[in-house]
Amino acid sequence: MNPLEIPLEEFERLCRQAARMSAGYLESLVSRPAFPATSGDITERIFHQPWAEQGIGAAVLDTVPELFHHSRPPSPRFFGYVFGSGEPVAAIGDLLASVVNQNLTAWRSAPAAVQMEKAVVAWLAEIVGCAGFSGSLCGGGSAANLMALAMAREARLPAKQRGAQPGVVYASEEVHMSIAKSMALLGLGTDNLRLIPTDAQFRMLPEELERAMYEDETAGKQAIAVVASAGTVTTGSIDPLEEIAPRARRHGAWLHVDGAYGALAALAVPEKFTSLALADSLSLDPHKWLYQPVDVGCLLFRDAATARATFAHTGEYARALSEDPVEGFAFFEESLELSRRFRALKLWLSLQYHGRAAFRAAIANDLKHARSLAERVRQTLQLELMAPVALSAVCFRYRPAGKPDEELDRLNRAILKRVIARGRVYISNASVRGRFVLRACIVNHRTTQQDVDAVVEEVMAAASDLTRG
Ligand SMILES: *Cc1c(COP(=O)(O)O)cnc(C)c1O
Repeated sequence: MNPLEIPLEEFERLCRQAARMSAGYLESLVSRPAFPATSGDITERIFHQPWAEQGIGAAVLDTVPELFHHSRPPSPRFFGYVFGSGEPVAAIGDLLASVVNQNLTAWRSAPAAVQMEKAVVAWLAEIVGCAGFSGSLCGGGSAANLMALAMAREARLPAKQRGAQPGVVYASEEVHMSIAKSMALLGLGTDNLRLIPTDAQFRMLPEELERAMYEDETAGKQAIAVVASAGTVTTGSIDPLEEIAPRARRHGAWLHVDGAYGALAALAVPEKFTSLALADSLSLDPHKWLYQPVDVGCLLFRDAATARATFAHTGEYARALSEDPVEGFAFFEESLELSRRFRALKLWLSLQYHGRAAFRAAIANDLKHARSLAERVRQTLQLELMAPVALSAVCFRYRPAGKPDEELDRLNRAILKRVIARGRVYISNASVRGRFVLRACIVNHRTTQQDVDAVVEEVMAAASDLTRG
């Protein structure tokens, strides 16, 4: 027997043990601190072990409780960043995906799995009002944005053979950093990313976009893309697509919409996202607002031919094996990845287990919780709401009377550290018009009203801890 083979009874035993541990962990979430009592030293000591010559067998699972203990849990009181809560049926999908171990390069490598991914991508496209778009799943919004800008570049200033030519990309000041990163990686340069000012609600100003595009055009510069946000990462603001799309078109730019944070909320509030279909490409992140475990992002596009022009390098030999449109299909000709994991399975299981209505209700709940938190902030004398609540992100700060902004930045930074150390809720920070703010973002199906109420309670308690010294 190959030394890596295990008896199937042993596999089943390990699965049962893992299932028991997982259920116990999920049961413990309500009582766990929102951030573990741990440190860099401790995690290094426990987990940075040498790899021994001899295996330890099933005892390896004995370290899982340590893993649980030193992990930031998917708690009902987790409101940091933009991060989904990890729906457990989807976790079973990850186990099964690894067991069947399909490589989703192309249909011929993974017949069922490739069809399932196509189906899941079509569901996602339909949710956001882009039925008919195609695309693929990927590691996250950053990967999706990178692929989108690569497509935009290939469509407007083909770079595949000759290398990148100078061209300009437009986005609002509030755009996610992955766009600047993509500019750098694609050889377009961050100097060629024009950051357009926003209105009082942090939405791109179309007249400012027009002005910047006109100036560049007059100077002989080629527009490659406009990136609009459907849910900016800080405040959840939605750029005015109806006004941006015609300007992008008039100046010959590709329109990409970064919907990694917000666009999937179209399931619950379609009226906020009526114009996503104006985009040439759209990024989504099911590991945010569809509560899926990481990783699963998605890039949708209107025109698969542009994806192939950008990502296909094998042309004939891939298609030569089959003339059939289904059997000849290759994801690797439309994506930067070749070997791809079976990300679709968790979505396939989770979305169908619960059904559309359940996800719609969960998102509606998050939106309601965010409104109620904003209301609590408004009603609390020492707190200041720092941005309108467009979706489920609430930006605020502690503001005792008579303190200058610099001091408030310092104070709120200290409050954030204290809130996390207290361990009841987890929130993070952001910068709003240059000021340090506390930020709670609710994309969490475990959260209850009491959990949301704990945010203001904890911030006020942390502030009073600090003033007591
Ligand atoms: C989270 C986010 C991204 C990046 O997505 P990852 O999945 O973290 O790579 C990009 N844009 C926006 C608006 C986001 O919220």
